[in-house]
Order: sequence, then C-alpha cells, then structure tokens
Amino acid sequence: MSGERGSAVRLRALTGADAAWESGFWGGIRRRTHERTVPEMWDMLRDPAVSPGLTNFRIAAGWEAGEHTGPPFMDGDFYKWLEAAIAQLETTREPWLADVIAEVAQLIASTQRADGYLHTPTLIATRNRVDVTALADRFHFETYNLGHLITMGVRHHAVTGSDILLDVARRAAGFLEDLATNKPLELARSAICPSHYMAVIELYRATHDERWLRLAETFVRVRDDFSGGDDNQDRVPVREQTTVAGHAVRANYLYAGLADLVAETGDERLRAVLENLWTDVVSTKLAVTGGCGALYDGASPDGSPWQEQISRVHQAYGRAYQLPHTTAHNESCANIGMVLWSERMLALTGEPRYADVIEHVMLNSVLAGVGLDGTDYFYTNPLRQVRDLPYPLRRAGDTALHPVPDPPPSDARLRERYLSCFCCPPNTARTLARFHERAASVAADGLYVHQYGGSRLRATGPEDAVLALREQSDYPWNGTIRFEVTEARGSLPVHLRVPGWAVGATLAVGDEDPDAVPPGTYARRERAWRVGDVLTLELPMPVRILRGHRLAEELANQVAAQRGPLVYCVESADLPAGTPIESVALGRDVDLAPVDTEIAGQRVVALTGNVRLLPASGDDLYADLAEGAIETVSARLVPYFAWANRGPGEMSVWMPLVW
Ligand SMILES: [Zn+2]
Repeated sequence: MSGERGSAVRLRALTGADAAWESGFWGGIRRRTHERTVPEMWDMLRDPAVSPGLTNFRIAAGWEAGEHTGPPFMDGDFYKWLEAAIAQLETTREPWLADVIAEVAQLIASTQRADGYLHTPTLIATRNRVDVTALADRFHFETYNLGHLITMGVRHHAVTGSDILLDVARRAAGFLEDLATNKPLELARSAICPSHYMAVIELYRATHDERWLRLAETFVRVRDDFSGGDDNQDRVPVREQTTVAGHAVRANYLYAGLADLVAETGDERLRAVLENLWTDVVSTKLAVTGGCGALYDGASPDGSPWQEQISRVHQAYGRAYQLPHTTAHNESCANIGMVLWSERMLALTGEPRYADVIEHVMLNSVLAGVGLDGTDYFYTNPLRQVRDLPYPLRRAGDTALHPVPDPPPSDARLRERYLSCFCCPPNTARTLARFHERAASVAADGLYVHQYGGSRLRATGPEDAVLALREQSDYPWNGTIRFEVTEARGSLPVHLRVPGWAVGATLAVGDEDPDAVPPGTYARRERAWRVGDVLTLELPMPVRILRGHRLAEELANQVAAQRGPLVYCVESADLPAGTPIESVALGRDVDLAPVDTEIAGQRVVALTGNVRLLPASGDDLYADLAEGAIETVSARLVPYFAWANRGPGEMSVWMPLVW
C-alpha cells in the first residue's frame, strides 16, 4: 500500500528554528543539557580510560592499533551522543561543537566498508586479521547500530548541510536493503532493538527516494515471515498483534518505526493495530511514573498455550497489571521508546492523549533517568528503593559480555556517571536535546501546542499566515500558562492542549472572561491575531491521590500522589531518621500542600503534610499482627524525577492507605 508522501500525517513538527525552550522549566533543562550533559558525555566518550566510544572508531579507521572493547552496541550509543550534539549545534551554533562533529563525521565515514556495513567490532577484527562473520549473532546489534547511524546521518545533513554522513546513511541503508533482499533470514534474526525502521523512513523523508520507503515495508515482510519469539515481538506477524509482550525497548522502537511507516503509507489496518497496542500499554502495563517494561526477567506466558513456545524475556512487559516496585526494571531507553512511539501516534492522529503520555513519561521517567546535575544516569527506574535486599539487583552492564565487576559495586544503587552498558545516557541526551521539536506542531488547521514549560514558537500557514508565540509560565510547578503573540499575520488558529488531568481548566484571550475548556482536548482559538495578544490557560493543580487497578496486586491498598503532571515519592531524607520506608502511609484524609524547596541546589515544589508511620513489621516472613500505635509525623514528598539526588536512602512512590 502506498500513497502520497506523508499523506497520513496530521501534524508536522516544527524545526529547531521555529521551536525552542527559551525560559522556564524546559529552558532550564535545555541549558543543563547543553552546558553539562552533552559536553561531559563527549569528555567521557573520547577518553579511552573511561569509554571506548571514540577509540573503537579510531582503531577501525586504522588511526590506532588495538582491539575492540566495550559492548557491541557501543557504536549505536556513540551515534546517539552525536545526534544530541547535532541538535545542540542546530540551536547554539557553537564553534567547538561544529569542529568536533565535523572531525567525528570524517572519522565515521572513513571506517565504513564499501558495501555500507559499519560495525567496529567486525571492522577491527578484520583489520587484526581475525576471521569474523557479520550478522552471526543477533546480540552483536548490527542493525541497531546501523539504524542509529542512518538517523544521525540524516540529522547531520539537515543541520549542517554536509552530505558526508547522509552518504554514509545511504550506503548503510543500501547494506540493509541487500540483506533484506538476499539474506532475509540473517536480517530477521539480527533485527533486535530495531532502530532501523525509524531510520530508513527518516532517510526517505530527507531524500524523497521511494527506495527507502519500500525498504521499510520489506523489513516488515521479512519480520512477518520469520518465526521468532515474544522477546523480539516476532512470534506473531505485526498486523496480528493484539497485546504488547516482550523486551520493552524492542517493542517501543518497533512500534515507533511502524507508526512512521503508517505516516507514509496510510496503512489503516496497521494504524489500528498500533493504536490498540499503545492503549494496551497505557491501560495495563505503564508504571504510574511512565516507566515501561516492569520486569527484569519475564516471559511470554500467555503468548502460547504450549510451554515449549514460552520464551524468556529480559526487561519485559509482563502480564496486564503486573507492576512491581523495588524490582521494576523500566529501562530509561524503554521509557524514551515510549516517547518516540507516542509522538508518532500524535503526529498521525492529532489526539491529545498521546501528548499527555509524552509529557507524563518525559517529566516523570525520562527526567528521573538523569541526575539533577545532568551528568549521572540510571539504567533501571524502580518505584521503590529499599536497603538490605537479600539478593543483588543486576546492573546495566551485568551480562555474560560484561560480567559483574570484582569486587561487585556497592549497594548504593544511585545514578552513575558512566555505565558500561551505555545505551541510556546518550539516548537521554538526544531526547532532551531534541525535546523542543515536541513542544508544538502545525496542521492544516493551525498551530498545536503540546507541551508547556517556557517555549518560543513560530508557525506558518496558508496565504502567508504567520503566528509566533512566547510562553511565560512556571509550569509544571504552577498551572498558569501565558502565551503572548510576538508576530502575527492572518488568523492562524491556535490549539492548546488541556491535559487529561486538568479538570476545571479555563482559557482566556486578553481581558475576556475565561471559558471552561474540557480536559483531554485541544482548546482552539481563532481570530485576526495582533502582536501583544495574550492567551492565558489556567490548569488547576490540586494534589491528587491515585489508586491502582483492582487487578494490580502490587498496588493493592496503596496510593500515590500526583500534582499536575508530576508524580511524587517519599524519600528517607524527608523522614525521621531510621524510618523504614515501608512504614510510611497516607491517611484517607491526607492534606498535602505544595511548597517551594531545593534539592541539590535545584528548585522544586515539594508536598508537605502529615503522614502516618505504621508499626515496624519485623523480620519474620509471617507473624502475628503486633499491637502498636500509628504515629503521625510531618513529612515531605518530592517529585519522582528528583529522587536519589541526596545520597543512598530509601524511596517509595506507592504508600499504604490508612483509613
Ligand atoms: Zn538503555
């Protein structure tokens, strides 16, 4: 099935020139990303004592002698950092960054094999006269690396105008095309963490060469002809899938890529499948923080009635409502994958529920993946942290390829500056560096503003219509959001997202009386705009106390606090010394009030109020319920994204409910 290019896309992204986080909350995150995250990550990637990221390319190019080190997906992670750097260059045009990017682009191009293949472990082995075969093992992540190479190459061309990495991207896609045509089994077997669907469609959009759109369709045919497992979502043909199972990063990347395909082909059947799968995640499998892939080790227990067909799945979407706390996996890359998938569904449909989830995942789980200083990272994102676990929780790099260090690391379970499995940090960097692209988009019927937190936006429409807005707000800490018109020609309609939680929201233009605007919609205003016009959106932000679904056993009789888009947690640092985290309960009558405070020098709005302390539970697996008073103490809840910035304590999002 084919159609006019991009015919199914309802919303189109704004470029970096027309969307920026200029002030406020996201302006602060942008500054931190530019000043800390991207430069410090480069310092690590180029320092062979810390990371082999750059060195592997230097050895592959013959600039240095040596062996490949680090995980086989390190190339892809290096490209993700480069994508973040390119996004920063688009915004800042910093000369040092331009120089680094130009130099690295030359290096990458010089390593590519004539047939388009680029994978430094293989290239270095060949250079060292070791006999290796490409695509011999799916856990070599070659297609993952090539996908990120293509995506980065397309962005490099868009921002710098240089063809060097676009040509590399074309050759890499040509290699995948040859594989899909002549060795489909090899491709199907190795296509895990499938970044290459999104990649070849980006290449198609940049080059208008139909060949790359056909290639994405071929990827789907190859996958559908392959008899794989739920681990990689290839047990069932994609158009027959009804529930999300398996490795959460792989699932979210695949569905994001398929949504790109629908955007270009208008395949309604596939679109309906994706809407259904997305709803399955959001209504039965998403952590309250927006984390995806709840289980360290799952299976596909309901994928087949036959035990021999059940596959073990690492970092799995479990069964519906299976949502543990301490052992929640929620890899940062899976959460980012949910943003990638949701933004494509938003572009396809224009439905605000997708923008709601993007906001929720970004503010709660993606931001929790990086420390408040912007330089240390989580791989897993649990909903509870307790001490003295009788078993170790595996860390990011703990695989057969990267055994647990000897001596093993401490039980601090804090964010780390460098992870030997370095997929999440540069993924976080590129997601934050490009987040302005998700602030708003344009459709045939005007400007759609999806995210709030300090944007500057400019949209053009039919008959030379122009509308530019500047946001002034203290969102997400405060629900008053003002947009001032800074440039206007014609009467381009404006649509402001009213989040699903914003019951009682109002919108006013100028001095007019505010109108009620329903939650879970875009509020539309159309008029002959004049410079200086002001739109004021008021989103009421009472503290909400949430409960879980009746079948979510781990959430039974527990509640969590949310204010506006932010989910809160309780940490040891805000409790009387020595309080076990499991003792902290909320009363049915709990009254939590927002209060400005600081964590690690950063302003946040905490919630203060009285919490209950249940009697200590003791060490027996089962024991008689002890007599003991329930104490009331004053405590503070902090935004989940700001947790673990005050040393190794305990933390919980969910708390028992006391009536
Ligand atoms: Zn990751």
